Amino acid sequence: YTAKATHSGHHVYRGTDDTHGEDRLHLLEELRLALVDDQLVMHYQPKIDLKTGDVCGVEALVRWNHPTRGLLQPDDFLGLVEESGLMHAMTEIVLRKALDQAATWTGQGRTLTMAVNMSPSSLIDTVLPERISAMLASRGLSPALLVLEITEDFLLSDRERARSILTRLQATGIRISIDDFGTGYSSLAYLRDLPIDELKLDKSFIIPMKDDPRATALVVSTIDMAHSLGLRMVAEGVEDTTAYSELIGFGCDVAQGFLMSHPVPAAELEDWFATRAL
Ligand code: C2E
Ligand code: CA
Ligand code: CA
Ligand code: CA
Repeated sequence: YTAKATHSGHHVYRGTDDTHGEDRLHLLEELRLALVDDQLVMHYQPKIDLKTGDVCGVEALVRWNHPTRGLLQPDDFLGLVEESGLMHAMTEIVLRKALDQAATWTGQGRTLTMAVNMSPSSLIDTVLPERISAMLASRGLSPALLVLEITEDFLLSDRERARSILTRLQATGIRISIDDFGTGYSSLAYLRDLPIDELKLDKSFIIPMKDDPRATALVVSTIDMAHSLGLRMVAEGVEDTTAYSELIGFGCDVAQGFLMSHPVPAAELEDWFATRAL
């Protein structure tokens, strides 16, 4: 891992391993401490139902509130988490925090789906469906409120294993969403035979819509394809009102992006809910 200077002058971890030994050990120790010392924090970004204009859910996005380096973004530390074999532990923490928050909001009469990002390595856990069911039940949460966002690379390695894992997860009543849809290397064939509820079209298709008609054409046809397969379509990276209204016109189901809100701590999102309701 190398240190990279950021705009804030802090140094963050990069997922390259051209340093070894003591440095790496030190980072690993910091990360282990972060997990036990509760330094991971969740930010939440709202998702809007484009049919009604209402907030229908949130995506939970992890940050590391580092004691000296400040708030680190996922790109700064997820590589380290993965390489050090701590992804299982991190996913457990993320699920617990996100479901605690979902239970709080549900208790306040605010029913929102909670989407959690799952790395391929976390999905391989054979007792994951039971663990998730138990976590939902202990909080009195309906499984339908939990969405797992998975990437296509999980489907690439072993289709049969992926099918069996996703089938068991979906049988618990939770929903499966394909994240970064359109950016992976897998074929579209899996859409025919895997249990999937939702496609999340990557922001690299949505952001260029404003000046590239071909990006727009891909968005339109992907929405139509999703709907013809009975899948819900979510657009991420909605940054301007033009994209927002175009997506409504194209029949897209849900939008998420900086136009509505950046990912923010729960308390800040509650302020945003309040101003939106005015
Ligand atoms: P992702 O799942 O594709 O999440 C969307 C990313 O796009 C987030 O970056 C979000 O802040 C950003 N984004 C949202 N709206 C817009 C927009 O309108 N324009 C642009 N340009 N960007 C937007 P973030 O939070 O830095 O997360 C980066 C990635 O880290 C995520 O990509 C996800 O793959 C991973 N990640 C985040 N949290 C977790 C987690 O708890 N577990 C795992 N395994 N991965 C996570
Ligand atoms: Ca995601
Ligand atoms: Ca994405
Ligand atoms: Ca991503």
